[in-house]
Amino acid sequence: MHRDIEWTPPAEDGRADGPPPRQLRRILRLFRPYRGRLAVVGLLVGASSLVSVASPFLLREILDVAIPDRRTGLLSLLALGLIGIAVMSSVFNVLQTYLSTTVGQRVMHDLRTDVYGKLQRMPLAFFTRTRTGEVQSRIANDIGGMQATVTSTATSLVSNLTGVVATVAAMLALDWRLTVASLMLLPFFVWVSRRVGSERKRITTQRQAQMAAMSALVTESLSVSGILLGRTMGRSDSLTRHFADESERLVELEVRSHMAGRWRMSTIGIVMGAIPALLYWTAGMLVHFGGPGFSIGTLVAFVTLQQGLLRPTVSLLSTGVEMQTSLALFQRIFEYLDLRIDIEEPARPVRLECVRGEVRFEHVDFAYGGEGAPATLRGIDLTVPRGSSLAVVGATGAGKSTLGHLVPRLYDVTGGRVLLDGVDVRDLDFDTLSRAVGVVSQETYLFHASVADNLRFAKPDATGEELRAAAEAAQIHDHVAALPDGYDTLVGERGHRFSGGEKQRLALARTILRDPPVLILDEATSALDTRTERDVQRAVDALSAGRTTITIAHRLSTIEGADQIVVLDEGRIVERGTHAELLAADGRYAALVRRDARAAGASAPGPGTEPEPQQASHPQPRESLSPQHVEGGPPADPAGAPVH
Ligand code: ADP
Repeated sequence: MHRDIEWTPPAEDGRADGPPPRQLRRILRLFRPYRGRLAVVGLLVGASSLVSVASPFLLREILDVAIPDRRTGLLSLLALGLIGIAVMSSVFNVLQTYLSTTVGQRVMHDLRTDVYGKLQRMPLAFFTRTRTGEVQSRIANDIGGMQATVTSTATSLVSNLTGVVATVAAMLALDWRLTVASLMLLPFFVWVSRRVGSERKRITTQRQAQMAAMSALVTESLSVSGILLGRTMGRSDSLTRHFADESERLVELEVRSHMAGRWRMSTIGIVMGAIPALLYWTAGMLVHFGGPGFSIGTLVAFVTLQQGLLRPTVSLLSTGVEMQTSLALFQRIFEYLDLRIDIEEPARPVRLECVRGEVRFEHVDFAYGGEGAPATLRGIDLTVPRGSSLAVVGATGAGKSTLGHLVPRLYDVTGGRVLLDGVDVRDLDFDTLSRAVGVVSQETYLFHASVADNLRFAKPDATGEELRAAAEAAQIHDHVAALPDGYDTLVGERGHRFSGGEKQRLALARTILRDPPVLILDEATSALDTRTERDVQRAVDALSAGRTTITIAHRLSTIEGADQIVVLDEGRIVERGTHAELLAADGRYAALVRRDARAAGASAPGPGTEPEPQQASHPQPRESLSPQHVEGGPPADPAGAPVH
C-alpha cells in the first residue's frame, strides 16, 4: 500500500481554500459557536449607534423649542437626555468591547488548540522537516496577529457600518435636501483624504529603502576591509561624495514624508471645517431662493450628524486593507490545519486487549521520501517470537533505527507489512499500539518537571511505590533518593542536571512503568564510561526481561545474549543467527567482533574510567567487547570511552 509521507498539502488543496468567499465562510464557521454572544454584540453596536444619532434630535429641540420658548423644564430634561445618551453609549461600548474581546479570544483559543492538536498527530517526518521556530511562530505570532482582525477589525466594521447607516437615516429624517448635498460632498473628501494617505505610504516606503541603502553603504565602506580597499584604491573622496548624494536624497524624502503627514492632517481639518460651511451656505441658498426654510435647530443638528459621518466612512474604507492582512494570517493557520496526516488511526481499528508480543516484518520496504524514493530498508523478513530478543547491528546509516521506527508506526512502511501478534500495525488502534510497544530512544527526553512527574508521564496514576519500584529496577532509585528533594527534584536547566547515563536510566524507569510487552531499545551511540554502562545495562536487563525486545545495537558489547542477531547492510539483512552461529559462520559479524576484540586488546582504559579486570581476554561475553562503534569509527566520547 502506498503511504506518502509528504506532509505539505497538495497545491490544489491549498488553492481550494484560496478564493476569499470560501475562506471567509471558513472564518465565519469559527465564530459559529459564539453566535449568541455575537448577536448581543450586534445589538449593543446597533443600540449605541441609535442612541448617539438621537442626540442631534434632542439638540434640535433645545435650539428650536426649549430656548426660544423659555421652557426651562424641557430644557433641563433635554440636557439630561444628552448626558444620558453619552453615558449610555459609553456603557454600551464597554460591554460591546468586553463581549467581542471574549469572543475573539475564544476563537484564538480554539484555533491555537486545534493547531496544537493537529501537530500532535502529525507524523515524525513533519518535525524532521520543519524548523522548530516555524511551528512556534505560527502558533504564537500568526494566531496572535489575527487577534486584531478578530476582535477589533470585525467589530469596527460592524460599528462603523451601523454608524454610517444610522447617521444617514437620521440625516434623511432631518432634511433630505441637506442630506443629498452632504452626501455629494462626502465622496470627494474621502477621496482626498485617501489620496494623501496613499501618497504618504509611498513616500514612507521610499524613505525606508533610502535609509536601508545608506546604512548598507556605511556598513560596507566603513568596515576594516572597506576602508582598506577605499584607501588603497584612492577612492575615499569619491565614497564620501557618494555618501553625501545618498544623504541629500534622504533630506528630500524626509521633508516630503513630513509634509504628506501634515497635508493629511490638514485635509481632515479642512474637511471638518469645509463641510459645515458648505452646509450653512447650501441652507442659506435654499432659503434665499424661496425653498422652505430650516429651523436653526435642524441645521445645527444636521451639521453635528454630518461631522460624525466622515470618520466612520474613512475607517470603513481602511478596514479593507486590514482584513486583507488578516486573511493572509488565517490562510497560514488554515494551511497547518489542512496538513494531511499520513499516519492515521484506521477507520475501524483492531483493538487487542492482551498483546502477547510477537513482531513480524514481512517483505518490508521503506523509503523516507515515500514510494519511489531511494530505499532505506529493502525486503526485510524477520520474526521476533514473543518474549525473545533481537539485536540489529550494522554500520551507521544501514537502517537500524529506521527498522525500529516502523514497529510503533513512527513511520509507515512503503512496502510489505509489520505485524504485531499477526495484525498489521496499520490496522491497530493507537491505544493498543502505544500500550504494546515501548520505545527507549537514543535521545532521552525529560521534561522540565520533577523526577516523579517525569516518571508519571508514562503512567499518570502510578503510586509512589510503583515509581520507586520502577526506579529501583532501572538502577536509579538510590541516586534519586539521595538528592535533597528526592523524587520532587526538578529536572533540567533550573533544576538538577542529571548525567547522560542517569537520564537514560530515568527513561528506562519510565518505560518500566508503562510495562509494554514489546520493547524497542535504540542504544545510545555515544560511549558511556564502563561503570555507567554496567548500571544502564542492568537497568536494560531488568526492563527487557520477559518482553519481546528489539535492540538497535550501535555497539556490540551488549548483544551477545540475544536470541537472534541480524546484520543490516544498506537496508538489507545480510546475516542472521545467534552470536555463536554467526561467529561460526565467520562472516561480517565475526569480522566485527574480531575487530572489536583487537581494539579492546590494544588499548588501555581511558581516563576517568574504572579499570575492568576481565576486559578483552575474559570469556565473559558482555565485557569481552569494547563499547566501540560497530562500524569501527572512533568512539564519540574519548573521555568516557574505556577503550580506543
Ligand atoms: P542507523 O540507525 O543504522 O545508523 P538510520 O536508520 O538512522 O541508520 O538511517 C538510515 C538511512 O536513512 C540513513 O541514510 C539516514 O541518512 C536516512 N535517514 C534517517 N532518518 C531520516 C529522515 N528522518 N529523513 C530522511 N532520511 C533519513
